[in-house]
Amino acid sequence: MDINALKSIVKDEKRILSADIPDRYLSDTLGRLKGTASALVFVKSTEEVSGILAYAHRNKIPVTPRGAGTNLVGSTVPVDGGIILDFSQMNDILELDTDTMTITVEPGILLKDLQRFVEERGLFYPPDPGEKESTIGGNISTNAGGMRAVKYGVTRDYVRGLEIVTADGTVIKAGGKNVKDASGLSLKNLYIGSEGTLGVITKCILKLIPKPESSLSVLVPYSDLKTGISSVLKILRANANPTAVEFMERKVVKLGEDFSSVKYPSPEAGSYILLTFDGREEEVKANSERVKNLALENGAIDFIPLTDPDKAAEIWKVRGALVKAVEAVSEQEPVDIVVPINKTADFIGFINELENESGMQMVSFGHAGDGNVHLCVVRGNRDEEVWIRELEENMDKAYGKAYQLGGVTSGEHGIGITKRRYFLRETPKENLAVMNSIKNALDPLHILNNKKSYITGENNEEFI
Ligand SMILES: Cc1cc2nc3c(=O)[nH]c(=O)nc-3n(C[C@H](O)[C@H](O)[C@H](O)COP(=O)(O)OP(=O)(O)OC[C@H]3O[C@@H](n4cnc5c(N)ncnc54)[C@H](O)[C@@H]3O)c2cc1C
Repeated sequence: MDINALKSIVKDEKRILSADIPDRYLSDTLGRLKGTASALVFVKSTEEVSGILAYAHRNKIPVTPRGAGTNLVGSTVPVDGGIILDFSQMNDILELDTDTMTITVEPGILLKDLQRFVEERGLFYPPDPGEKESTIGGNISTNAGGMRAVKYGVTRDYVRGLEIVTADGTVIKAGGKNVKDASGLSLKNLYIGSEGTLGVITKCILKLIPKPESSLSVLVPYSDLKTGISSVLKILRANANPTAVEFMERKVVKLGEDFSSVKYPSPEAGSYILLTFDGREEEVKANSERVKNLALENGAIDFIPLTDPDKAAEIWKVRGALVKAVEAVSEQEPVDIVVPINKTADFIGFINELENESGMQMVSFGHAGDGNVHLCVVRGNRDEEVWIRELEENMDKAYGKAYQLGGVTSGEHGIGITKRRYFLRETPKENLAVMNSIKNALDPLHILNNKKSYITGENNEEFI
């Protein structure tokens, strides 16, 4: 690869690294898989991205787009070398339009900065994945979900328009500020959740809503996980419109407490459901009262309103840090299976049996309100060969069960590299063929984030 060609496009040598690229840019947040790259470029404009992609396309050079690298599935590992396009410096807010309730941003803006900016102005961007230091471009490319999906939906529901640079450097605009759009194929929706395999996002028009007047979180301890999970369906049916309904096993909360130095009440509990309600004050009060009665009638040990905002923030901090808390004690495999909401209890029951029969620890927590189960499968002191063999054996069973229940591989983290084994095995060949025809049409040379997610070889072979 010719670094001078990149320099002629970017014209700021400080933003191009061709040697000693730090390891974290060659991996994801877990850092277990590592790729190689000839250049890391901190892009700052659509023109630069377009110029680099046109050059890469002409010379068949692989390109890996990268936001904050917080994904958990290896999707930012540059497996074929080439160029890493890093968006962390392309992070401006371009326009706040309060008439259309939209905001236009560059993809590298961090979720926490966007949320703070709009909330200071009485507005609200509802998608709320646990990692607030992720970028909006990364959130869109993974269709990130998070805590508030049960009431507000996921990232896709808040993307009005995108500017995209295609694999050969062409710039297109998909969607815009219109509320409705039935004009041809929804190109915007094709790129959302495509994990950087079809094009590169350089501008995002996002829908905002008015900031809810008030919100209240409530912690509900249960003696065991099954009772807690079973009461969730009743809570969801009660017309109480919760914003978030999270579940956590006590054993994973304990790891979160040790990691965050925060203590949860009712340590004798076997599990917790953590809820939030938001809206007008009287609405929040009425909805939480309704759920209080339901929860206590259905096996809750207590119902603890977190009226002190600092205490509520602490309790949520533990929830947000659970992946990192487990990772701090042992290597683990984070799983992001989603099943229909009425199958969550069955799936968790199956996982508990699998855990007992295999001797492999699997702690669970997740978004109970939308059936998205986050399992952390703990390595413990297994050596590499045993760990990989046992993990694959057990996960083959777990994913098999999830699909049997009508679930899928990933609710929000994406497929990347590490979930390909299960995704490619469980997805109908016809579906994979359609996905690969789209890839071949939009990126015929396979330069964009190749060998990730759905992308298979000619004979459907896995690459890794
Ligand atoms: C502690 C923790 C908690 C988490 N909680 C959640 C959660 O609740 N919900 C959830 O959904 N996820 C969660 N995640 C996963 C992760 O934060 C999300 O997947 C996030 O959306 C990734 O954003 P990022 O900026 O880090 O993207 P990256 O990790 O940098 O990239 C992710 C993918 O997007 C592509 N990409 C990035 N930017 C662009 C662009 N501009 N154009 C095209 N493609 C691009 C990359 O190629 C890659 O395929 C969590 C992660 C951690 C570590």
